[in-house]
Amino acid sequence: MTAKTKRFPLQLASVVDKSSRTGHSESVSSRNVATPQTATQNAARNGGRGLSQSDRHGPTVAGYAQPHAAVPGSVPMISAAVRKAMVARIAKQGVKDAKVLAAMEAVPRHLFMEPALASQAYIDASLPIGYHQTISQPYIVARMIEVMRDNGQAGVLNRVLEIGTGCGYQAAVLSLVAKEVYSIERIKPLHELAKTNLRPLRIANIRLHYGDGMLGFPKVAPFDGIILAAAGLEVPQALLDQMTIGGRLVAPVGGRHQVLQLIERVSKFEWSSRTLEDCHFVPLRSGTV
Ligand code: SAH
Repeated sequence: MTAKTKRFPLQLASVVDKSSRTGHSESVSSRNVATPQTATQNAARNGGRGLSQSDRHGPTVAGYAQPHAAVPGSVPMISAAVRKAMVARIAKQGVKDAKVLAAMEAVPRHLFMEPALASQAYIDASLPIGYHQTISQPYIVARMIEVMRDNGQAGVLNRVLEIGTGCGYQAAVLSLVAKEVYSIERIKPLHELAKTNLRPLRIANIRLHYGDGMLGFPKVAPFDGIILAAAGLEVPQALLDQMTIGGRLVAPVGGRHQVLQLIERVSKFEWSSRTLEDCHFVPLRSGTV
């Protein structure tokens, strides 16, 4: 990667920030609860049946650079087909936004997992990515982005912030619905993992940042949308302050019992909040490791 400019769009490798700056109630059925625990159970059940290395780099994705030469034969086709089936399930679970469903269909989720788990990439479960963290369940990824896009601006999102990059999967999905995506991760090796996972996809509009997402990203705020991929007991005020007026923040909130919350910024000093549905995420923690 050679691009040196700091303006969008940029090659991913050139925009990764290596510094460690730290820095009315809508009722939806709770049938779709994201469960990190299922990850480990599934891993134990299916441990040895991963895709081969060539599978991991097989599929061509609309809008993405092909990381490696296409693997001849049926594997990329299989991967595309199972991804289609995953999207059909997500639609059946209630996600209607066609742009979100298309983004979910475009991103090769299996490339964000270690080979031993790649065969499970398209089941509707969260899966382990190391460091006691998980890649989020596909349904909840789609649902949160759909809610964020339902902003009365025809879904236009200029700048969005994700707290909890993890392996980088949701950031990749977000890159297809927003002009600029900033994503913060507090665990250094996961920040590095996300860089490694995203680099071959050459997504021009993602910027990864290592730091404490509870502080937000004041340098580039305000954001039209903010998504938290980890649950706190409350949403940090710093994040509320970094929303645009009319902006939407979607976050899991709670301890053992968590709910998905939508917060809208109504004016400079006013926010409205709605509880959407039950969910289950890893905890939001302060500081960096
Ligand atoms: N977005 C990921 C989900 C990762 S799991 C996906 O695409 O599947 C949630 C992540 O949030 C974990 O990697 C965890 O380390 C991170 N996290 C928790 N608290 C954080 C904080 N204060 N700042 C940044 N990241 C945080």
